[in-house]
Amino acid sequence: MIRFVGAGPGAADLITVRGARLLAEADLVIYAGSLVNPELLDLTGPSCTVMDSASMTLEEVVSAMEDAEAKGWSTVRLHTGDPALYGATREQMDELDRRGIPYDVTPGVSSLFGAAAALGAEFTLPGVSQSLIVTRAEGRTPVPEGERLASMAKHGCTLALFLSAGLLSNVEADLREGGVDPSTPAAIVYKATWPDEIVLRCTAGTLARTARDAGVSKTALVLVGRFLGDEYDRSLLYHPGFSHGFRTAEKGADGALPLADASAQPSSEAGGR
Ligand code: SAH
Repeated sequence: MIRFVGAGPGAADLITVRGARLLAEADLVIYAGSLVNPELLDLTGPSCTVMDSASMTLEEVVSAMEDAEAKGWSTVRLHTGDPALYGATREQMDELDRRGIPYDVTPGVSSLFGAAAALGAEFTLPGVSQSLIVTRAEGRTPVPEGERLASMAKHGCTLALFLSAGLLSNVEADLREGGVDPSTPAAIVYKATWPDEIVLRCTAGTLARTARDAGVSKTALVLVGRFLGDEYDRSLLYHPGFSHGFRTAEKGADGALPLADASAQPSSEAGGR
């Protein structure tokens, strides 16, 4: 059985409890050495074989999995953050399907959320943005035409860019083309949750200079949007004048709520399914 496991964003104790158990039980661990914290390998048992996939091709990875499976081993394929984001997991799963080798997936904490934590930020602020676009600048991997950064930026919602720290001059130009004011708040979070994490706050127009001055060109998330600013509306969910399934509005407390909002759906999860 192959277990795809999300290693979390960096700090070794941000792996899930299930992920840690699977590492302890594994006979073979294939980990993405360029980004996974090697401290996690301390969780493996003494007889576990460890391979770094950084220097391996897809064929070599799958062949190592196949050999392990033939021996009846348990294999952990350890991916940084959550395996579902830029993890190149689908191609491995398709090869495993072709060989009839079973697998499952244990999610992890994406660096997207490691970066939000480092910033103490909430991506979805009422009155600012209720949507998060997760994308990347076009580099060697092409981005589909309809997903060009300039058109994504036009939505004006919260933007998170993976794999883009070395392309920030292009990012600035694309954001400008998409109508993002250069003074819009932005941040670059390098190695979120690692001991050498760096948080750089800047604006949409100063991303390239900020990264260059700090010597950051990889392993960073770029975040852009007014969610990093000072202004937002308070939530309806915790507003004393708002009733929902779990709480009745306090008498006379609805004065602060605009009439149009009184019948609105609450802005977070407690009101719905
Ligand atoms: N699956 C991973 C992303 C892998 S792609 C996840 O969910 O986080 C690799 C990119 O992720 C890097 O180029 C960088 O943009 C981002 N990244 C990974 N770890 C990071 C970290 N600790 N801090 C900031 N960005 C990180």
